[in-house]
Amino acid sequence: MHSESSTEGPTGQYESVSCNLCGGTDLATVLPATQRSEAPLEVRFKSSSDEKLHDSLVACRSCGLQFVNPRLRPDVILGGYRDGTDETFVSQASARERTFATALNMIERLAPHRGHILDVGTAAGAFLHVARVRGWTVSGCEPNTWLGGWGKRTYGIDIQPGTLFAQHYADGAFDVVTVWDVLEHTHDPQGFLGECQRVLKPGGLLVVNVPDIGSWLARLMGRHWLMLLSTHLYYFTRQTLGQMLQRVGFQVVRMKPHVQWLELGYVIKRGGPVGGGVVRVAGKLVRGVGAGGLHVPYWVGQTVAISRKQG
Ligand SMILES: [Zn+2]
Repeated sequence: MHSESSTEGPTGQYESVSCNLCGGTDLATVLPATQRSEAPLEVRFKSSSDEKLHDSLVACRSCGLQFVNPRLRPDVILGGYRDGTDETFVSQASARERTFATALNMIERLAPHRGHILDVGTAAGAFLHVARVRGWTVSGCEPNTWLGGWGKRTYGIDIQPGTLFAQHYADGAFDVVTVWDVLEHTHDPQGFLGECQRVLKPGGLLVVNVPDIGSWLARLMGRHWLMLLSTHLYYFTRQTLGQMLQRVGFQVVRMKPHVQWLELGYVIKRGGPVGGGVVRVAGKLVRGVGAGGLHVPYWVGQTVAISRKQG
């Protein structure tokens, strides 16, 4: 059990919210809060952060959407994203490029005309790099100053600093919008998806992935699921994600498991806190034979949804 003072937060940086999908206020606790983190915000909100969720997870009794409540205020969170450096995240650039090449194969089957693509929360721009090589015109934005700067130097892509809303893109500016590992971090996912819809051309494609709390792996692992992280505010299922997409004017084309490629050494490092001794032994073996840089497929219950803007 947590006390009232832990719900309010010692610093007054917390807020309570209603359901972002249906506006419901009748909320059931799924996982109660545990000991709150003392880590500095720029450490908690790194792209490669793997700090476990400490705040309480609730479910809306009307629509089933699951989210963190109470939670840190949006301005506090955004400050955490803006600052800080992330060498661990960019160390995986080549494996990420492989993930994105696979994703682009899928996108190009549905959007054969290689027009203007926007990647929101592009981090260091690995996706845009792959897309540009394949003939797309690319744009991207990223709140973290350090990651955006790394992408500019490495790929020569002009990554705009700040959030999607800070960019003020024109209506219907893009043929495709991609949102990789971002939606679960936003404080207003429905507003965010609505902005994606606005900047897409009619018939344009939105590609968004989420940690899927309805996936078999999430249900099997329960509170030990790797995606229950302090940086993740929303926990979608295929149903709640599909409902939210429809609500803002998208038609869902398909949903499928989202498999990433990562370096084996990185997977083992991130799995260590959960896998314990077995993972540590595996890590020694992998380093011993020099296989840490090997690319391996990695799936921990992620789902990707491809939708089309109606109209
Ligand atoms: Zn709801």
